[in-house]
Amino acid sequence: MPRGTADGRPGTTDTRVPVRPAPRAAASRPGRPSLVDLSAGALTDVLSRLGEPAYRGPQIEHGIYRQFARRAADMSNLPSALRARLDAQYDVWPLTLQTYAVSRNGDTLKALFRLADGACVEAVLMLYDQRQTLCISSQVGCAMACTFCATGQDGLTRNLTPGEIVGQVLYLARLLARRDALALGLQARSARVSNVVFMGMGEPFHNYDAVWRAIPRLASERYCGLGARRITISTVGVAPQIAAMAQEPWPVRLAVSLHAPNDALRAQLVPPARRWPLQEVLRAVRTYTRRTRRRVSFEYVMLDGINDHPQLGADLGRLVQGLPCHVNLIPFNPIPGGRYQPSPDGRIRAFARRVGAAGIPVTIRVKRGIEMDAGCGQLKRRAAVNASRPGDRPR
Ligand code: SAH
Repeated sequence: MPRGTADGRPGTTDTRVPVRPAPRAAASRPGRPSLVDLSAGALTDVLSRLGEPAYRGPQIEHGIYRQFARRAADMSNLPSALRARLDAQYDVWPLTLQTYAVSRNGDTLKALFRLADGACVEAVLMLYDQRQTLCISSQVGCAMACTFCATGQDGLTRNLTPGEIVGQVLYLARLLARRDALALGLQARSARVSNVVFMGMGEPFHNYDAVWRAIPRLASERYCGLGARRITISTVGVAPQIAAMAQEPWPVRLAVSLHAPNDALRAQLVPPARRWPLQEVLRAVRTYTRRTRRRVSFEYVMLDGINDHPQLGADLGRLVQGLPCHVNLIPFNPIPGGRYQPSPDGRIRAFARRVGAAGIPVTIRVKRGIEMDAGCGQLKRRAAVNASRPGDRPR
């Protein structure tokens, strides 16, 4: 595929879909705290300070999670005086859409959100026949520095708050529910986000508390109503937190990014592997699968000539044998100026056969939005370049 220049600027042969500025209506009013970021208790406190009865709390939650109100002024189930007071003091969401891109066939939407402090994070909505999966971020940037990942190149800026995590889901849920998706060129089959995966920017287990405060909001019927089994947390392999997750009350799914079947190669690709060697990660995974009786998935990004040798496939199969698991091979999405190339399809299939020969269920992830740079952290990089061009400046 023709690509832009090495620093990420589109070249003359650029075939990527355009990155579009958000519609004007999405503009935020900076500086206000967000209602989504208030815990149920904090919301009750706010209401009592305003001299309002506690039953207004569930009404506001209805406005946020059922009406998808973007401003308190739009919460039609509240008395107008309260609406006006809340609207003057609070935003509903702690983020706004900065730019977005839709793949040509309308099956993928990538959104770049701007947070109150100006930082940006990405989310990607992927439409399948049976499900509509939203990939969300847990941090601004990432400290893990995986050598093949765009986000890892710039380091960590900060953790997201629970509301900033939930806000990504609410934004896309509203878009689908209101059929705004059609206006954006998205071919949605249903009006709901059905699955959420923490596979966007950041390491969810480095922001453990906020992620686990967001989970009940995403899972519970009272809020987003996804159900915990439709949520997946993907980790680079933070062993202590994998074991901790086994104690959590919500049955969220676990994915572990392995990328290599031995520590020497893994440490080249995933620097935290030096701190948590494979045996330690797998011990924690075993604790998790025993306690929860849930299957785990192992992610493995396929890098040409680096970790895709068929022998490594056999090693991987042996390594995870005996665990209730599934291996997901991810075609590499090249990053601008990066050192790796994607493995050819035939080589991925040969690798998959070797993993499968050990009796391990294995799938190859369907390539998505490759023409729109759907890889982690890549829209953000393009937006930074585009921001200097007047036509693409956010309004
Ligand atoms: N930090 C977490 C979650 C974020 S990354 C983790 O490491 O699992 C989600 C997945 O996307 C990981 O498996 C990661 O290795 C993979 N990934 C990152 N950059 C990629 C790229 N350019 N192409 C393909 N997969 C990539």
